[in-house]
Amino acid sequence: MNGEYCAEIIGVGTELLLGNIVNTDARDISEALSALGINVYWHTVVGDNRERLKAAVEIAKARADIIITTGGLGPTCDDLTKQTLAECFGLPLVFHEEEAEKIRAYFKSAGSSAMPESNLSQALLPEGCTVLRNHNGTAPGCAFFSGGKHVLMLPGPPRELRVMLEREALPYLRRLSDSVIVSHDIRLFGIGESAAEERLRDLMLSISNPTLAPYAGTGEVRLRVTAKAKSAAEAEELMSPLIEKVKAVVGEYIYGIDVPSLEAAAFNLLKARRLVFASAESCTGGLIGKRITDIPGASEVFKGGVIAYSNEVKSKVLGVSPDTLERYGAVSRETALEMAAGVRKLAGADIALSSTGICGPASDSRGRPVGLGFIALSSPEGGFCREIRMGSDRDRGRTVAAHHAFDMLIKYLSGTLR
Ligand code: ATP
Repeated sequence: MNGEYCAEIIGVGTELLLGNIVNTDARDISEALSALGINVYWHTVVGDNRERLKAAVEIAKARADIIITTGGLGPTCDDLTKQTLAECFGLPLVFHEEEAEKIRAYFKSAGSSAMPESNLSQALLPEGCTVLRNHNGTAPGCAFFSGGKHVLMLPGPPRELRVMLEREALPYLRRLSDSVIVSHDIRLFGIGESAAEERLRDLMLSISNPTLAPYAGTGEVRLRVTAKAKSAAEAEELMSPLIEKVKAVVGEYIYGIDVPSLEAAAFNLLKARRLVFASAESCTGGLIGKRITDIPGASEVFKGGVIAYSNEVKSKVLGVSPDTLERYGAVSRETALEMAAGVRKLAGADIALSSTGICGPASDSRGRPVGLGFIALSSPEGGFCREIRMGSDRDRGRTVAAHHAFDMLIKYLSGTLR
């Protein structure tokens, strides 16, 4: 199989057409196929109706090389998908005793009473197919090659689909390929998607393997580098000069490669240096603490935090001087620095972060605009503070402020915080 091959995903289910559920299966499959380098050209949705499903499959046969269906595999659907697909490809359904045994065993282990006989219809599968095991349910999926088309049938329930996709369907699709696709995710903070794209445009247009594609996240940018080659080592060789070129152009904004988030990059650096931090949060309302404690092992790097929303907590708990609050206001460089210094002392941490900002809906009593914020970092080398703009959306603003806090931590630990 090569990159010229294209896939169509057919979601089977009247609920999808009625708008009762969102087609998350198609999204999950598309995302996984794109990582494999397989182009998905069509998403089709059809109700639980044999004739219309047949028509959809005939259309897919005429335009796609890989057809993946979701749903309609369970006993409740009268095996609509399997029967129809088998018919479309002229394959008989045959009874798989081994699958029937697994279904019986599943019911036994789940402690269910008697298994409804209809469940055994799930063991009827197209002749000669590869069975795709269902690790989270009873209906097996299947895959076959017929009439020049690769066909995969996957279950509808997302928790069944995701595991079958990961453990069964993707390995099956990978085996069809004589090449491997390898990707790296370059993570940037402090530059917008369009600015990053502008700087990298010539580079992006001048290459085809590897490729370089930007993706925008909330307040951050990802650059996906992807190469296709005969082996993973060869793909890495193709990518490494490109990654170096990207570093030369936007290196100052890169906080990590193949790290899932800013907090994960900060976590790795803190752990390597055996340092712990604490937080004093006003406008982020605990998000800094939440995001770091989402990471398993957070206790090795995080002492704790104070959500200091009111001036009273800022001064009584964190020791921010009432004079500072009076003279400069709660949303100021001076207050942010005192909050960070205060929580560092209180928690006995090596480093501390603080946030203070105007979340809105109105500007503060000094007439400063909604979205103005200050993030500070306190360390043995002294304090650092960054003035930021969070925008007027509270949720996005909190996310952006927490991004800045982790970015300052990363830069401090890398010796580049100014
Ligand atoms: P079962 O064995 O549970 O009957 P199935 O493979 O026959 O599974 P369906 O009966 O078509 O699947 O769908 C079962 C449930 O899975 C639906 O009620 C819906 O909640 C979910 N589901 C089905 N298709 C999708 C989809 N494309 N995206 C997200 N969820 C889906």
